[in-house]
Amino acid sequence: MKTFEYVAPNSLAEAVSLLESAGPLAHPLAGGTDILPQMRYFRVHPTLVVDVKRIPELRRLGFAGDGLHIGAAVSLADIAAHPDVTRLYPAIAYSCGLVGSVQIRNRATLGGNLCNAAPSADTVPGLICLGARAVVTGPAGTREIPVEEFNIGPGETVLGTGELLVKVVVPPPPNRNAVSYLRFTPRQEMDIAVVGVASMITANDDGLVSHVRIVMAAVGPTHLRAHRAESVLEGQRPTAELINRVAEEAAGECRPISDVRASAEYRRHLVTVLTRRTLGACAAAQDIKV
Ligand SMILES: Cc1cc2nc3c(=O)[nH]c(=O)nc-3n(C[C@H](O)[C@H](O)[C@H](O)COP(=O)(O)OP(=O)(O)OC[C@H]3O[C@@H](n4cnc5c(N)ncnc54)[C@H](O)[C@@H]3O)c2cc1C
Repeated sequence: MKTFEYVAPNSLAEAVSLLESAGPLAHPLAGGTDILPQMRYFRVHPTLVVDVKRIPELRRLGFAGDGLHIGAAVSLADIAAHPDVTRLYPAIAYSCGLVGSVQIRNRATLGGNLCNAAPSADTVPGLICLGARAVVTGPAGTREIPVEEFNIGPGETVLGTGELLVKVVVPPPPNRNAVSYLRFTPRQEMDIAVVGVASMITANDDGLVSHVRIVMAAVGPTHLRAHRAESVLEGQRPTAELINRVAEEAAGECRPISDVRASAEYRRHLVTVLTRRTLGACAAAQDIKV
């Protein structure tokens, strides 16, 4: 690992000013579970590391009028155990509780999972399904970006020089709404998703799907929405037959690569299976007969 300077500011303004002054060679540090291995194996070479864990705005977690506010430096363990999260957003609690191991989740943060921009990140598909927004502060002030648009490629985000993710805001879940996330990993724990899929269904009183989202992980350069598959289900009753068709459609929309962990063909197959299972789980959660 190359030598670097470490600072741990207590305020957002100080962090932004430090990041701006050092430019692209300054990197934020949250739990360090992604960036420290990257530094150790010379994949990134920051000259300045700005620890964001002492900044109060990044440490807050709770439900406000416009939804759940998750500070970027809140640990995944704290999110998974928070009563507002487990009650109102069980899919977020579940995906945070999947990451790594107990030790990793005690260090790792939601902000780090999003900003690392890995297409396999487990917390991101559920956030996209729920229409979450990323709140970012930088030298030019504060702006909001849909989480869906935050990552633009592997390891690449929309953040500009000096910008910091402050929090993620998840809107209140609508009535008759269910979200489900499933991933495939060869091991039960301490493994990265070969493929992950999150589905969300909102149903009307007649049991028809009024809103649907399907988000796929690890089958493209970023998390991908299956737009065509969603439109097949919109306005329909989610029967088993239709769900099978939607799952096939989703598999046609993903853009997997073959690598040491799986072939593109196997990943496509996994998209079909996980889409079918997550949509089935959403329908079952709302007691819609499929
Ligand atoms: C053994 C092991 C198992 C793992 N298992 C999983 C898994 O199952 N699923 C999964 O999705 N991931 C997994 N990971 C990856 C990692 O733990 C997660 O991505 C984690 O959420 C990263 O959070 P962090 O706080 O440690 O990020 P850090 O390593 O601190 O930061 C990650 C990146 O985000 C940037 N960053 C951090 N905070 C901010 C901010 N507020 N604003 C702007 N940029 C910021 C950093 O500069 C860095 O580029 C695993 C990692 C390990 C080592």
